Amino acid sequence: GAVVHWFKTDLRTNDNRALAMAADKAANAGVPLICLYIISPEDWEAHLRAPVRVDLILRTLKVLQDDLAKLNIPLWIETVDKRKNVRSTVHTFMESWNANHLFANMEYEVDELRRETALVRECASKGKSMTVIHDTCVVPPGRLTSSSSGRPYAVYTPWFKTWKQHIHDNEDLVDLVDTPAKQADDLKAKVSKLFGCAIPESPKNKQLTKDEKTRFAKLWPAGEHEAVRRLQQFCDDRINGYSRNRDFPAQDATSSLSPYLACGAISARTMIQTAFDRTGAKALDRGTDGFKVWVSEVAWRDFYRHVLAGWPYVCMNKPFKAVYSNIEWSYNKEHFTAWCEGRTGYPIVDAAMRQLREQGWMHNRCRMIVASFLAKDLLIDWRMGEKFFMENLVDGDFSSNNGGWGFSASVGVDPQPYFRIFNPTRQSERFDPDGVYIRHYVPELAKVFEEGASAIHEPYAKEAAKARKAGYPEPLVPHKDAREKALAAYKKGLGK
Ligand code: FAD
Repeated sequence: GAVVHWFKTDLRTNDNRALAMAADKAANAGVPLICLYIISPEDWEAHLRAPVRVDLILRTLKVLQDDLAKLNIPLWIETVDKRKNVRSTVHTFMESWNANHLFANMEYEVDELRRETALVRECASKGKSMTVIHDTCVVPPGRLTSSSSGRPYAVYTPWFKTWKQHIHDNEDLVDLVDTPAKQADDLKAKVSKLFGCAIPESPKNKQLTKDEKTRFAKLWPAGEHEAVRRLQQFCDDRINGYSRNRDFPAQDATSSLSPYLACGAISARTMIQTAFDRTGAKALDRGTDGFKVWVSEVAWRDFYRHVLAGWPYVCMNKPFKAVYSNIEWSYNKEHFTAWCEGRTGYPIVDAAMRQLREQGWMHNRCRMIVASFLAKDLLIDWRMGEKFFMENLVDGDFSSNNGGWGFSASVGVDPQPYFRIFNPTRQSERFDPDGVYIRHYVPELAKVFEEGASAIHEPYAKEAAKARKAGYPEPLVPHKDAREKALAAYKKGLGK
């Protein structure tokens, strides 16, 4: 016999709840623990996995496989073309190793939940067990309900208060579980054929160019050791300044851990525990401002997963409230392409979209600016932006992305009020005052505007001749008119 852990978005050995349970089960039964990862290119396509994200997953698998091998635990990787064959691949693997127990961490998206529900049933019908457990959130989705309505929270602030209290009352939620112990050599010998399995290349439709491969490997070194290194460095050097600096995209003020969380190379619990240890914070609301604000951001990730679990239809291209479907969106291709390519004529928007292309990542302030610009200034269907983000982000994560777009486009849970429309130029002046971020990503503007030149925020309004000479595009739409149009469209759609 054997016990199987099925890795999905939990690619780490430390503080991995299902893996730790599987290891215990195997140790108690005196049988080997074996691990499985299934690649389904069709699934990656259906879930809009960005090539940069696929590349990071594959590189992370290599680190994970090496880490597990040191513990005498094998990681086997199967590729299946059709996503409908994922379940049968799990069964075949279990049967060929005579395994009776399967462990996995839960994923909350509808397709995954359906698949796991079916697997649990199928395992039971074969006299085997499948255990699926909560791991990715600090507080399991479904746990917190509003005391007044008894329903899941749809507003962040009261939810966050309850979230903190709940952790305070249940400290084991942030306890880290042990890394599996090294497996005995005789158990290893029984499954020796599973060691050293090759990690495949990216599937055809997810390939990177050579340049991109080198660039992304440098920007995002893979695996949990790198994630821990980043986390510790962030907690030692930057967390205390986080509340002051986090909104300035030219500064390296945030943790840049989102790509690692997205593939599960680090757990949210480890993030919180490490921040406790390294800052000396005594409780979630007893630490420096930087610590507290950072924890509140980590909590947003939990919040949007709780929302997904409470209202699964957000997974099906539906806005949070039905009335938001009545807004008449534009599908102007030229505008959309200019936005995607960073040619809108608004330097902060263009810098951000070019950062996305260069790094597979974008600063949070800029994600809000570009999302607001697409949905409000261009009145383009926010779902097109949501999709484009997923197709390009190294940290593309359904619930955080859907939540972020819903917030910015004012069509989500606890959204920005619809009449709050970012003025991209003011945002730029406020959060990139010296134009350092813009100059970095929009080199044609850097050539004609010195650091600190105010015209860089609105080149055509202040220095049109220079902007034209630099070959920088004119604004797609004037913000003032766009704002009026957006207000009218939202009012009409929402029946205000
Ligand atoms: P830090 O500032 O160091 O924060 C620590 C962690 O907290 C992050 O790694 C992340 O896991 C979580 N977090 C921070 N802010 C948010 C937030 N607003 N919502 C949810 N979680 C948050 N985040 C993703 O991980 N994947 C996405 O696909 C994604 N899409 C987004 C789309 C839009 C339109 C917006 C406005 C935000 C989106 N975010 C997304 C949230 C946020 O921008 C990123 O998590 C953050 O920029 C990651 O950088 P960091 O790791 O340095 O964050």
